[in-house]
Amino acid sequence: MDQNAISQAVIRQIVARARCAVCGHSFSMSDVRVIGKRDNAWAMSVKCRECRTQALMLAVMTDGSTRPVYTDLTPNEWGRFKTRPPISANDVIEFYNYLDSYDGDLSEILDEPLAEE
Ligand SMILES: [Zn+2]
Repeated sequence: MDQNAISQAVIRQIVARARCAVCGHSFSMSDVRVIGKRDNAWAMSVKCRECRTQALMLAVMTDGSTRPVYTDLTPNEWGRFKTRPPISANDVIEFYNYLDSYDGDLSEILDEPLAEE
């Protein structure tokens, strides 16, 4: 499979699994756009046609299946961050595992201030 076909397959899996974090509406292929890719991690801009929320979603492919990871970044913020040192697939997986093992209220994580550089 060439890279483009793989990206299409990832988008299809995202469309099948992911729902809008705000209103729960499903996405269609045309709502999802790949804006970055590194190793087996994709950064995607998703746009909900129901509530018009735009979100940045990360997808990590492991063993041929894709796990969507929501971020609280907007695609525009991603545009700024991606010029910084690259996020590796391992960073994304680590983040995913952290979320997976975190059993508290997710809003606590999001409320934590980012470390100053
Ligand atoms: Zn929505």
